[in-house]
Amino acid sequence: MLTSEMIKEAALAAGADACGIAPISRMAGAPAEMNPTLLFPEAKSMIGFVFRIPRGVQRGIEEGTQFYQYPSMAYGGINEIYAPAVLYAVGKVIESAGYEAFLYRNTGARGCVSDMDGSPGNTLSPEEQIEVNENAKTSTAHHRNVQFTRATREGNVPPDLQFQFRLAAVACGLGEIGWSKMLLTPEFGPMQRVAFIFTDAELSYDEMYSGKPLCRRCGACVRECPGGCIPPIAPQNAIRVDIDGKISEWGDIDMWRCYAFYTHAGRYYNPFVPKEVWDENRGGALDLMEGVTDKADEHEIMKVYTALQKYFPSWVGYNMAKCGGCIRACVSMLEKPGGCMENHFKAPLRTRKKPWKMDR
Ligand code: SF4
Ligand code: SF4
Repeated sequence: MLTSEMIKEAALAAGADACGIAPISRMAGAPAEMNPTLLFPEAKSMIGFVFRIPRGVQRGIEEGTQFYQYPSMAYGGINEIYAPAVLYAVGKVIESAGYEAFLYRNTGARGCVSDMDGSPGNTLSPEEQIEVNENAKTSTAHHRNVQFTRATREGNVPPDLQFQFRLAAVACGLGEIGWSKMLLTPEFGPMQRVAFIFTDAELSYDEMYSGKPLCRRCGACVRECPGGCIPPIAPQNAIRVDIDGKISEWGDIDMWRCYAFYTHAGRYYNPFVPKEVWDENRGGALDLMEGVTDKADEHEIMKVYTALQKYFPSWVGYNMAKCGGCIRACVSMLEKPGGCMENHFKAPLRTRKKPWKMDR
């Protein structure tokens, strides 16, 4: 008989760092276009897997010495290699017991609503993206949904339905959402990525996390975001979601703005773009990053990417994140006494008083 213990044992043996299991009914309140209960209507259980991000891949960004390892190892490596391998191994255990394993690896921008802001309709379709690529001579994908996806039968939502991974992880009892909108777990703070399996097997389920709040409401993520994308901690800036009675709350982040800053970081935090490029701001392409405009939308983001992409090509197929500000700020706070990462490392992430900032 297939049990939760067998699944968790297989998950950890295959390389996951944590595993939690929920009845899929916990996600029943999600909006239809993001509701995983519609993926596989016979599914009874949702299995969440945590893959830790080694703190050391942030070291180069913390020091300003190496920016490639974080996006390639922690984005590309986990999403493309480590997590799929674990899903595959655990899926075999489930299917060998006679149940189906609907594997769901991390992906993005494949649903009928934008994975940036949940808005319906087009942001940039692949067709338009091709047009943009030809004209702008860039290969970075900017569409955040698939425009022409349609339901395959009445009553369905269009494929490929994408659900909110972080809330699904909360439902699986793996952690909580911090003010920065990152998933925080007791083991790794904000340093992980997640993936899921849905199955028709009925299993025993984990409670959702109910220990000491993982987010310290310290505001370090707000202070250290180079783009000012995370609003100050205040009730009017909060987004609240109820998952089967557990309230998750986070800051209403300007996601488009983050899209520009997490990859390109800005004048003071991107050592790959010469000062003259920021100074010149040719054609107003960097208006958003230079504070000329506050309007962060797809149009402004395309201008930024088109202007800056060549300075650090995205060879792993993932945007080459140079920011990591909110993650590193959060780790350095959670490592302080009383935080969930206290004593996890012999030395703290932040060994210098202040994070670096270029003088230009
Ligand atoms: S990833 Fe960077 S730009 Fe985005 S919210 Fe975090 S600190 Fe800000
Ligand atoms: S930096 Fe502080 S406020 Fe922000 S998510 Fe982490 S613990 Fe919460």
